Amino acid sequence: MSFEAALAQLLPRDALLTEPEAKRPFECDGLSAYREIPRVVCLPRTLDELRGILALCRQHAVPIVPRGAGTGLSGGALPLAEGCLLSLARFNRILEVDPANRTATVEPGVRNLAISEAAAVHGLYYAPDPSSQIACSIGGNVAENSGGVHCLKYGLTVHNVLGLKLLLADGELLDIGGKTLDAPGYDLLAILHGSEGLLGIVTEVTVKLLPKPPVAQVLLAAFASVEAAGAAVAGIIEAGIIPAGLEMMDQLATRCAEDYARCGYPVDAAAILLCELDGGAAEVAAQRAQVEQLLRGFGATDLRCSRDEAERLGFWKGRKSAFPAIGRIAPDYYCMDGTIPRRELSRVLARISRPSMACRSRTSSMPATAISTR
Ligand SMILES: Cc1cc2nc3c(=O)[nH]c(=O)nc-3n(C[C@H](O)[C@H](O)[C@H](O)COP(=O)(O)OP(=O)(O)OC[C@H]3O[C@@H](n4cnc5c(N)ncnc54)[C@H](O)[C@@H]3O)c2cc1C
Repeated sequence: MSFEAALAQLLPRDALLTEPEAKRPFECDGLSAYREIPRVVCLPRTLDELRGILALCRQHAVPIVPRGAGTGLSGGALPLAEGCLLSLARFNRILEVDPANRTATVEPGVRNLAISEAAAVHGLYYAPDPSSQIACSIGGNVAENSGGVHCLKYGLTVHNVLGLKLLLADGELLDIGGKTLDAPGYDLLAILHGSEGLLGIVTEVTVKLLPKPPVAQVLLAAFASVEAAGAAVAGIIEAGIIPAGLEMMDQLATRCAEDYARCGYPVDAAAILLCELDGGAAEVAAQRAQVEQLLRGFGATDLRCSRDEAERLGFWKGRKSAFPAIGRIAPDYYCMDGTIPRRELSRVLARISRPSMACRSRTSSMPATAISTR
């Protein structure tokens, strides 16, 4: 029996796609410069179906590419022409929110933001928050070891996952870690984070939940140069302050975000810094005074603090919309995620903003820069 015929016997009709037009939506992830139509797309709902697919792929020597929400920017979920694109999107149940242990156990297709939404009734949330969090899945977050604005203080995905279930190509289900920090056996969690689906299929994830801080405020500071904003980032960290988030955007990125999200950014500034402080009221007030003084010392020309939760979220909305905002003016936008040592920030940023460094594209030859501090 052919591979396709065996899959058709195993899976319900809507869980197997073989027609080119049905498979087309799966031809790429967020790195859309590369596209490939896979041999088949499987959308299983149960562990038995998943095991069956792995067994058939093994038997017919068909390579597998797992896929969460397909928002990855590194081509990790790019199909292989001769392969099986295995979507985990239907594994989307929140299995347990355990407020006593401050954990949530979820299936891999659950959206990142849905975890915090489910935990909110207990005053808890899941800290890693990639800008794609309304869409990306926790399985994809594990496979890419994703980070976000709040990872400066609270760590990346690997620092917030306590346990994983992993289905290996031969059908064996591994139970790694658990609900506590120190599970028996080797600590294999780190090797699985960022492994891009190459070591197995993540079928269950247990994450740490944190109490929502009583107070969270964002300072928005405008600067007359990117170098000054970069120096302020290094200065804040050097002063021993670890903000909940610390992000910088240059003028092009700020203007695009403002046009797109109407978040009240000062569009005349050469660069802006967003600095979130969280904790108890007294702690935040003390840190705010210290950070404001530092920012002024580094030349902040305009300094605002979010007055309520709506304004705080509004300040972040612009930064988190940077991708679609730039996409509106430059459809061939090329994203480069680099790492710059904090001490070198202002020098490197100044160099990036010089036109000779700009990528040449049909619609824009200027790089837009948004910097996350980790
Ligand atoms: C607008 C936008 C903003 C973004 N912002 C950020 C950001 O701030 N920080 C950040 O880190 N990333 C960001 N990303 C990148 C992307 O959202 C993350 O890498 C995310 O974790 C991918 O999740 P996904 O569910 O879309 O995974 P996919 O893209 O579907 O897959 C990513 C990788 O995970 C593997 N995979 C998926 N599910 C499983 C599973 N169950 N078991 C094993 N392997 C699996 C795939 O094979 C692939 O290698 C952004 C992307 C976009 C489009």
